Amino acid sequence: MDVKKLKEELIDFSKEIGIDKIGFTTADTFIELKNRLIKQQELNYQSGFEEANIDKRVTPSLLLEKPQSIISIALAYPAKMRVRVKSKTGERRGIFSRASWGMDYHHILRDRLKKLEEFILTKVPNARLKSMVDTGELSDRAVAERAGIGWSGKNCAIITPEFGSYVYLGEMITSIPFEPDSPIEDQCGTCTKCIEACPTGALVQGGQINAQRCISFLTQTKNLIPDEFRDKIGNRLYGCDSCQTACPVNKGKDFHFHDEMEADPEISKPLLTPMLKMSNREFKTKFGHVSGAWRGKKPIQRNAIIALAHFKDISAIPELTDILQNEASSVLKGTAAWALGKIGGESALAALEKAKKNETDNEVQQEIEKGLSFYK
Ligand code: SF4
Ligand code: SF4
Repeated sequence: MDVKKLKEELIDFSKEIGIDKIGFTTADTFIELKNRLIKQQELNYQSGFEEANIDKRVTPSLLLEKPQSIISIALAYPAKMRVRVKSKTGERRGIFSRASWGMDYHHILRDRLKKLEEFILTKVPNARLKSMVDTGELSDRAVAERAGIGWSGKNCAIITPEFGSYVYLGEMITSIPFEPDSPIEDQCGTCTKCIEACPTGALVQGGQINAQRCISFLTQTKNLIPDEFRDKIGNRLYGCDSCQTACPVNKGKDFHFHDEMEADPEISKPLLTPMLKMSNREFKTKFGHVSGAWRGKKPIQRNAIIALAHFKDISAIPELTDILQNEASSVLKGTAAWALGKIGGESALAALEKAKKNETDNEVQQEIEKGLSFYK
């Protein structure tokens, strides 16, 4: 097998199938990452969404028999919506982060990786291959960094010189000994713009993130959002882009290479109040294809309530009152109680006082008290 030639053919083929950047690295253990992950675990900085077994996350040979290399791929996604939202006065909208615009990127990247696999297998029928995107064991970012896709910024994103950090990443472990590419030099220098822009102080010193403080993680949880973060979430329904938009490397970067990634503003920047009354079926029809829907309807509704409180949207009081009185989920009820207090006014106060008499759930009672405390 002429591995050098195959690598060149693979690079050419990757361009044909809409992969914007491809890099190659060894299948060696990610030793430095292991130390970082252990430290993160000790500090309780992890999100809990990641693979629990650290060894699996850093050791390709635990995932594929006798691996020889890893291929990293990157697809650039848009930073701006092509179609502008048609807003009317008084209508309030939430926002999904850029990584949730268009079709769920897991499907898009898996499609590209599958095509790459098929191509490799036509050339090397006995090749062993294992692809993954985001939810796989390996760290997409650690692989991309070592494969020369980009450097790991202080905002913990992989920053490519060509597309900034607006890239989706995926990788494939292979049994083919491709020549590794060289990593790119860290170009953050003395810049600290992302650290300063983070609303919650989640970026802890160079290149470390406390997921427990990160809005991107918090918007994906299912419980009540801790008090200290509610005002900072603003109108974010899913994810947070602040440490990316603040990055000077991303300035002017806005690539529209893939139609599947184009945002429909009515989905990526939806009206807030109608979201509160959505049935499961309506949610699935409208949002089911975006990556931000992976935790289901309720976390997004909870975030929509927080966004309405952020806007102090008086017109939402009837819907919030209805949730406080009739909703089954204590998280939505409690968040609605808090939001009513934040929005204020007589009808919100009446709703809170009525609920205080009738509510039996302790968690919701506490949120009613918080709502009432805004009147003191
Ligand atoms: Fe901070 Fe938002 Fe970046 Fe998380 S995603 S580190 S909250 S700026
Ligand atoms: Fe690096 Fe500055 Fe971008 Fe942060 S904002 S990732 S420090 S270049």
